[in-house]
Amino acid sequence: MVDINRIPGLDYIRKRGNLCIGAMYAEAALERSDLIRTKYPILADAIPLIADPLVRNRGTIGGNVAMAIPATTSAIMLALGATSSRRGEGAHHTGEPVLQRALLDCPRANEILTEIRIPAPPPRSGGATPS
Ligand SMILES: Cc1cc2nc3c(=O)[nH]c(=O)nc-3n(C[C@H](O)[C@H](O)[C@H](O)COP(=O)(O)OP(=O)(O)OC[C@H]3O[C@@H](n4cnc5c(N)ncnc54)[C@H](O)[C@@H]3O)c2cc1C
Repeated sequence: MVDINRIPGLDYIRKRGNLCIGAMYAEAALERSDLIRTKYPILADAIPLIADPLVRNRGTIGGNVAMAIPATTSAIMLALGATSSRRGEGAHHTGEPVLQRALLDCPRANEILTEIRIPAPPPRSGGATPS
């Protein structure tokens, strides 16, 4: 078993055209992000609906996508057209649609998910989550 929490450089959020989120970025940090609140309000609405603060403090966006739970975050990632990157021994795959193999999205045993990319929503688009 490998604790990937200790791998440096996977805990970031930045906007370069697309929104890029490192796989180890915590759900609680997404919830507090001004970038998410202003540019991706559907995510800002949805993240606080996940479990409770204890889960969101430990849960990561990479773990969420790797598990491909057919719940809040997965549905929103699909709707926003998110893609993921994974890296393993000598291989680096990028730009794969998130959850394209629903419920089988975990990378292979020798790979980890490294980044989620979400394109900028088109003009005049919006979203809502059930309250
Ligand atoms: C009570 C409860 C309620 C929840 N409710 C919701 C909900 O309503 N909506 C929702 O979307 N989610 C929900 N979740 C899921 C939660 O938000 C986390 O996404 C989930 O628990 C994953 O947590 P984690 O990042 O610690 O991953 P872990 O639990 O550490 O890992 C989960 C799996 O993914 C693998 N994995 C983790 N990171 C990577 C990576 N970078 N690369 C490859 N494989 C990886 C692990 O090996 C493991 O198999 C809930 C969880 C709990 C416990």
